[in-house]
Amino acid sequence: PSVPELEALQHADVARLLPVPTGESDKYRRGVVGVVAGSARYPGAAVLAVAGALHGGAGAVRYVGPAGDAVIARFPETLVHAGPPAKAGRVQAWVVGPGLGDEPGVRDALASDVPVLVDADGLRGLDAGAVRARTAPTLLTPHAGEAAALLGVPRGEVEAGRLAAVRELTARYGATVLLKGSTTLVASPDLSDPVRVNPTGTPWLATAGSGDVLSGLTGSLLASGLPARDAGSVGAYLHGLAARTAARGAPVSAEDVAAGLRGAWRDVVSGE
Ligand code: AMP
Ligand code: MG
Repeated sequence: PSVPELEALQHADVARLLPVPTGESDKYRRGVVGVVAGSARYPGAAVLAVAGALHGGAGAVRYVGPAGDAVIARFPETLVHAGPPAKAGRVQAWVVGPGLGDEPGVRDALASDVPVLVDADGLRGLDAGAVRARTAPTLLTPHAGEAAALLGVPRGEVEAGRLAAVRELTARYGATVLLKGSTTLVASPDLSDPVRVNPTGTPWLATAGSGDVLSGLTGSLLASGLPARDAGSVGAYLHGLAARTAARGAPVSAEDVAAGLRGAWRDVVSGE
């Protein structure tokens, strides 16, 4: 009864949680994040998710899917694979879904024994049984429309009761859920954990592709070892801060948000 229902991460909490490498670190120990995203129709979602992933603290990003050429053209440091995720090599976390269309990959990712973030097209027809059967954490990152589809209710119902909706999703899927929107909420399946409310959001984030950047970023935080609830809330925090600093009152693109992540990270570390 004394547990608060909601909490907001403070700057200092985020600074403490950021994965900072040490003298013993190498790229594998920092974590490899696998990104399963993009399709012939939406190659840009793959590029944006990789852009986010490169700024989340993982030591390497593996991209799996049909947009490898587009990804490499922008980010030559990415390891690209055309085959299925199960054949791509070891990762410490998977991000699956941005711009995925009907490309496969969700089932492979869910069958793995590492944390998985499922977003966007990966959420369509998501098998609750397959998610519940997982041994490693799963983090779902729907916006209100995707949350409504997962719950089988009208979108308005989610908008009118966001806290209830995010709690209901954690119960149905046995997963941590980050519900995007003007106030982003992060809830874990453990009811004794308060739901986290992100304090850094800005309406400038309402722009195409910004969710794809958040997915990659948050998956990278998962790969570097943060628990799902912390990865989700730190990801949302940095994402909002990056948009604010990049925008400074003017429209931003998703690419600008990705480029702003480095500055957001620095602001958190320096305590600004
Ligand atoms: P998506 O819906 O996947 O494109 O993701 C959109 C991103 O923008 C999410 O991080 C949302 O939380 C954020 N966002 C969308 N609209 C708003 C808003 N009005 N205020 C703050 N953040 C928003
Ligand atoms: Mg999206």
